[in-house]
Amino acid sequence: MDTTFINGSEIAEDIKREVTAEVQGLNTQGIQPGLAVVLVGDNSASAAYVQMKARTCEQIGIFSQKITLPGAATTAELLAKIAALNADARIDGILVQLPLPPHVDKHAVLERVDPAKDVDGFHSGNLGSLVLGHERLVACTPLAVMELLRRSGTVIEGANAAVLGRSDDVGKPLALLLMHANATVTICHSRTKNLPDVTRCADIVVAAIGRTAMVTADFVKPGATVIDVGTNKVSGLDEVQRLFGNDLARLRDFEKRGYIWAGDVDELGVKGVAGKMTPVPGGVGPMTIAMLMRNTVKATRMRRGLA
Ligand code: NAP
Repeated sequence: MDTTFINGSEIAEDIKREVTAEVQGLNTQGIQPGLAVVLVGDNSASAAYVQMKARTCEQIGIFSQKITLPGAATTAELLAKIAALNADARIDGILVQLPLPPHVDKHAVLERVDPAKDVDGFHSGNLGSLVLGHERLVACTPLAVMELLRRSGTVIEGANAAVLGRSDDVGKPLALLLMHANATVTICHSRTKNLPDVTRCADIVVAAIGRTAMVTADFVKPGATVIDVGTNKVSGLDEVQRLFGNDLARLRDFEKRGYIWAGDVDELGVKGVAGKMTPVPGGVGPMTIAMLMRNTVKATRMRRGLA
């Protein structure tokens, strides 16, 4: 079977072009969308994500503000910062970069974000709207998966879809989006029995479990579309070679940085079985940022009652 790789980087560029045009349209009405990103502590991966988001805002013409708090910041300090951003008229979207330090009450923090500015879609009000089928702001990674499916021509209506992972940020909202798009959805998790038997019945498999290359060829029905959300750091040369053979681009990447990112799907094994699949990197990752930009513009419009 010839497997087509779905190019998330390319689709993300298309979406960013669309969002840029929308921002320019808003500019003509004297409106500039604004995004605030709150970073607590000095987690280097989180800092890199925040930097990437700020750079993308700049490319698109979205005003961005980065708020950095020390790792020792208390829940009360964070709540006060968010309350100030809720009241700031320049800010249409607020994103609290996760993970937060363990002493911070994550639930209280995410609930303090004004639902109208909740571009991560994590507030219970936005999740509730999603459950009820009137989506407002929905989490970016599930949106990214839906967009990858649609723009790669994967038929969702009537399809059997298996979602591996039931987290509040990815698995649960994605399962709802797929169900609302008329797929028949099975949600799998760490207690699911005979997992490969379950996923092999699916026309669409989405892996969001955080387990390197766990989804092997025997999980996949021939011709299925496989979307890999997993982002796992691989820091040993042996493992890189076991996972990717002599893939020169990856080996060069590993040499340069001392690690590479790998997905939850065993790319070498699943290639040749899946009809379509996303790579890691270059699949869901860039799309998630593109969807954050789209959500920020959506929040900008919603707050002003614009269509
Ligand atoms: P999470 O909160 O840790 O949830 C993981 C889920 O996977 C849980 O529901 C867990 O089941 C399930 N799981 C774990 N081991 C399993 C196993 N052996 N078999 C079946 N299910 C298993 O993770 P997350 O936040 O959803 O993220 C998942 C992955 O996506 C991570 O690698 C993360 O880095 C990546 N991610 C990528 C992006 C992106 O933009 N590319 C965005 C978000 C997340 P239980 O509920 O039973 O524990």
